Amino acid sequence: LATASKQGPEDARRANRSLLLRALHHGGPTSRADLAKLTGLTPASVSSVVRDLLDQELVEELGTRVDGGVGKPATLVGIRPDSRYVVCLDLSEPEQFVAGLVDLTGKVVVRRSYARDERTGRRAETLVKRICHDLVADADRPLLGIGVASPGIVDDQGTVTTAAHLGWTDLDLGVRLSARASVPVHVVNDANAAALAELVFGAGEAQNLILVRVDEGVGAGLVLDGALFTGNRSAAGEIGHVVIEEHGEPCACGKRGCLETVVSEPLLGKRLGADGADEADVLGHAGSRLGVALSTVLGALDICDVVLSGPASVTSEAFRNATRDEIAARTMPNIADRLVVRPSTFGFDDVLIGAAALVLDRELGIH
Ligand SMILES: [Zn+2]
Repeated sequence: LATASKQGPEDARRANRSLLLRALHHGGPTSRADLAKLTGLTPASVSSVVRDLLDQELVEELGTRVDGGVGKPATLVGIRPDSRYVVCLDLSEPEQFVAGLVDLTGKVVVRRSYARDERTGRRAETLVKRICHDLVADADRPLLGIGVASPGIVDDQGTVTTAAHLGWTDLDLGVRLSARASVPVHVVNDANAAALAELVFGAGEAQNLILVRVDEGVGAGLVLDGALFTGNRSAAGEIGHVVIEEHGEPCACGKRGCLETVVSEPLLGKRLGADGADEADVLGHAGSRLGVALSTVLGALDICDVVLSGPASVTSEAFRNATRDEIAARTMPNIADRLVVRPSTFGFDDVLIGAAALVLDRELGIH
């Protein structure tokens, strides 16, 4: 919790602001004195930053609390949940784009969906621009920014390197949307968004987790030491084309037996709907194959918190138990004994809320 004293005064001020906002976000309303203890900042710094935050109406004073009966009652300071909204877009679903206004606590205040009608390329991009325009117009609060969660690989500049289902290659979506917006725009991969939702808004104190998102394909978001890990080329978590069945089904990528030939939303839907399908068998097999793919990752990184995001079949107990049992059978007790395989905290909204989490992280330093 050190201050950024070696940087310029603006950087230091921004870092201190993030420290305080983070403490208030995770700890709830707190007195200035306790904020100083929690963050290691001097009482004078805390007062000064809180004054700025009050001026910006990001925080509010919330009455008093008497601590231990000594001294005068302390005034509590808390984040104002509806002082800013985030415009959020989830582009990961095959049939529709989902959009919403989300407040600073991760609550979805307004939700809209837009039929995709199989739009790809420029037409999909035009629809995204229209959605942003609609939601900005809907907001009756100041906006913190726009967060977009896209399928595919997204670099840290907001360029969608590749999103096959949308027909996008090297699309500088962040730059294009920024050119028309009066607020900051941030773009992230959908699985990474859902992982950020757990980190920023989840109930647990998850500092290390892997979130596996199943939709048209399979992807994962990694949180390591309390931060999103994106890898060398922003492609961390791309586990869909790891081969898990050597003589398996052919895959669109040219190999055989990739994880995506066993686990994806359309495929599971088809298998569950087939004549004479045994639900427990289908989910058990798919869940255990995912466990095979995850075991080495979890063992290597010492992660025991696995979050599943996607359709009800994937978050079902049968699927999760199969994944857990497979991982437990393939890892050391340090993983197996503490292993949790759980559905994502925010259900179908996790990617949308994750887009808000991204903006809170980038604009306010809350993670
Ligand atoms: Zn493949």
